This record gives sequence, C-alpha cells and structure tokens, in this order.
Amino acid sequence: MTTRNPATGETLETYETLDEAGIDRALDHAAAAYRDWRSTSYATRMTLLGKIADAFASNREKLARQTSLEMGKTYASALAEADKCVAAFRYYATRGAEFLGDTRIDLGGGKSATARWMPHGPVLAVMPWNFPLWQVVRFLAPTIMAGNVALLKHASISMGTARLMEEAVREAGAPEGLFQALMIGSKPVEAIIADDRVVAVTLTGSEGAGQAVAQAAGKALKKVVLELGGSDPFIVMPSADLDVAVEMAVKARIQNTGQSCICGKRMIVHRDIYADFRERFCDAMKAVTWGDPFDEKTDMGPLSSVEQRDTVLDQLAKLKAKGAKLLFGGEAVGERGAFMNAGVLVDVPVDDPIAHEELFGPVAMLFEASDAEDALRIANSVPFGLGSAVFTNDADEQALFADRIEAGMVAINQMLASAPEAPFGGIKRSGHGRELGPWGLHEFMNLKTIMRS
Ligand code: NDP
Repeated sequence: MTTRNPATGETLETYETLDEAGIDRALDHAAAAYRDWRSTSYATRMTLLGKIADAFASNREKLARQTSLEMGKTYASALAEADKCVAAFRYYATRGAEFLGDTRIDLGGGKSATARWMPHGPVLAVMPWNFPLWQVVRFLAPTIMAGNVALLKHASISMGTARLMEEAVREAGAPEGLFQALMIGSKPVEAIIADDRVVAVTLTGSEGAGQAVAQAAGKALKKVVLELGGSDPFIVMPSADLDVAVEMAVKARIQNTGQSCICGKRMIVHRDIYADFRERFCDAMKAVTWGDPFDEKTDMGPLSSVEQRDTVLDQLAKLKAKGAKLLFGGEAVGERGAFMNAGVLVDVPVDDPIAHEELFGPVAMLFEASDAEDALRIANSVPFGLGSAVFTNDADEQALFADRIEAGMVAINQMLASAPEAPFGGIKRSGHGRELGPWGLHEFMNLKTIMRS
C-alpha cells in the first residue's frame, strides 16, 4: 500500500500488506492478549490509559504531522485532534471504573440478580481517514477500559498514522497484542470478522463500507456498530444571533476541508433573514483560504485525495444538471494536489436523490424555509440522521427542533462537535450504536446476569 501527500501528489511511503499467515498471527496475538487483559483490575486498565494519554501528549506533533501529510488537514487542526485524543484517554482513565459497577435487580419473592459488565473479546475497528487519530481513539480508549483488545484496519491512506498510534500505545507499556494496527486493505476484512477469535466489529465510513461490514457481521452473527455518513442540517431562525450563526456555519462547512460526518452541510435559513444570512455567509465563504496545510494562514488544506475531490466535483456536476446553482467556488484549484475552493449551492432540488448524498467537500447547500415546520421538512428530507445544529433564541423552537429533527445529535446555538463524555452516533442510514461516554464503553461488553437464590 502506497500513501501519497494530497497537497503535493508526492509518494510518502509504501507499506507491505499482511498476508494470510500474518493476519493469522495477529489474531493469535489478540486472542492471547485477551486471555490476560480480561482479568486485569479496573485500576490496571485506568493506569495504562493514563500512560497512553501521556504518550499521545508527548508525541502530539509527530502524530499531527503524519495525519496532515497523509490526508491534508491543517497542522493546527491535527494538533487539536491529537489533544482531543489525550482528553478521551484521560476521561476513561479517570472515570472508567464508575461506569462498570454492578446493578442489583430485585426479582421479587426475596430473589435478586446482579447485572455485571464483563469483557467480551477482541474487537475489529474499520476506520476512515478523515479524523484518523480521533476516530480510532473513540474506539480504542473504551475498548481497553472494557477489558477487550483492539484490532485496527485503518484507511489505506492512513497507514503511517496507524503505525504511529500503535507505537505510542506500545511506548506507554501496553501488553503485546492489546492494540494492533493491521497493514491490510479492505479485502481480508470479511474473513477477519468471520474468524472465531474476533467477537465484534465497529466501522466508521461510507454507507457502502458499512453495508459490506454489516453483512459480514450478520453472516457471522456478530455485533456491529456503524458510524456512517451524514448530511447534517444547520437551521437558522429569525431570533438567532446572526453573527454567531454565520461564523459557525462557515466553520462547520469548511472544517477538515468539508470532510466531517457531523459538520453542517445543508444551511436551512428562515425566509425573514435569508437574504441577510446569504450575503454574509457567501462573503465569509469567499474569504476562506486554501493551501499548504502547514501554513498557519491556511483555512483549508487539500481534500484527502484527488479521487475524493473528483467524487465531490462529480456530485456538484450532477446537482447542477438537476437545477442547482453554484454561486461561486466548488472548483478544483492549484497546480498540483487535491485542492478545491469553498463554494455555495442554491436552488437545490430538495427531493432529488442527488441532493440526499453526503457532500464530503467544502461546498454548502443553502435552503430558504418559510417557517419552523418547513425547516424541519427540509432537515428531515435526507436518508441520513447523524447530527444537526439549530440557531434560535426562541425556547419553543429549541424544544421543537430538539424533539423532531431526525438525528442522533442536536446542537443548539453552537456547532456540533463530539465530546468524550457524550454519546455519539446516528439513526437512519447514518448507522446504529453509540460511541463515547459510558454508552460507547458498554457497546462491546457482555452484560452478564448472575442470579442467586
Ligand atoms: P470508505 O467508507 O470506503 O472507507 C472507510 C473505511 O472502510 C476504510 O478503512 C476502508 O478501507 C474501509 N472499507 C471500504 N470498503 C470496505 C469493504 N467493502 N469492506 C471492509 N472495509 C471497507 O470511505 P472512502 O474513503 O471511500 O470515502 C467515500 C465516502 O465515504 C466519502 O465521500 C464520505 O461520503 C464517506 N465517508 C464518511 C466518513 C465518516 O466519518 N462518516 C469517513 C470517510 C468517508 P480502505 O481505505 O482500505 O478502502
């Protein structure tokens, strides 16, 4: 597997992929590590998580640099991502045990039972390139706390990041086999899921990859958590602070060069403030800079690959063919690399399937809504249901949107962002299951019922 710098097109490194025997050895290591790790105390697991947090903190520049080189995000945002990983490890290092206490259940007639969280086994994670550190840590930190062990199949373009993460975990003193980054493409994934040494699988990525992995898990009767795409609505109502709403809308749409599953992608604005919002939003989007991810003045680096940029350009062409109007931007730019400038689309046909696809690039769709019900109709018109954001200072509208937006997460008067403490996940075609907080920790555990008389 060869990785390439999307800012320059230059080859970064070539990795030798694991053959069948190599995968078999890795699974053996995982099974052996699980036999020991499952019976460690919560204190031991939390101590290791604290040390991994330290290792990530001391390697933050190295980790961040590698992610910027491999997938093009700005170095500043990569550093922030590394710091967020440290926070997630520390969260489970300090709070993990309190989420794993027994629950006593009264069965009546003097009988009782205990529900106890038990480890389950080696879990496979199939992860994407867009937040190549954070997506992995969201899975890894609770996995270690649960007494499970982790196998990572990272995106093919993030193999260097995967390797550095494995090194940092080893540097922290993790036992051999507790966390292994497998140098593999997507082909062997089905066989790994089917293998008896693996108990469950989690995937973050596209619908197609989610379907393939869920199918394999279904065939093997194993649990699967899916964090798939999103086409998040970003609703702005007349009572909102427009300065804040515009600033957050731009930030949401251009962060990570538009390649975030939970960033606002469809800006739905009430007709009374539509013209004002549109003017300010377009001005701010036109001012977004693109260029070298290591330059502090750059707002957006390249997309993760030329192929990813071509996917977005193709979607834009199809949207335009269906009547959408690209006001500006949304073009391939630069003499080399996978760069694209920020853009805004209007007149998007709400009910057309092309408008329901996830637009994984820095182009916003702008819709005008006649009232709150109309905003909800547009918001819920897509098959995804991951995140959402609502800007309104009207308490009734806040309650209405929090209740009726079809999504796993709603942010009010702020941009949606994940946090180690809060459940993260979606509904509809955005997947199922939750990561982070106690919920993410419990996903892959065996909740054992112990009855006594
Ligand atoms: P993919 O979903 O293809 O990649 C995510 C992960 O899944 C990678 O590790 C990939 O491996 C793996 N994978 C892909 N196909 C299979 C399969 N059949 N069986 C097992 N594993 C598989 O994302 P892409 O890079 O192709 O991006 C395409 C689109 O997906 C984007 O435009 C965006 O819409 C969406 N996406 C959403 C993300 C999110 O955060 N929800 C993240 C990334 C993408 P490999 O790299 O080796 O192919």
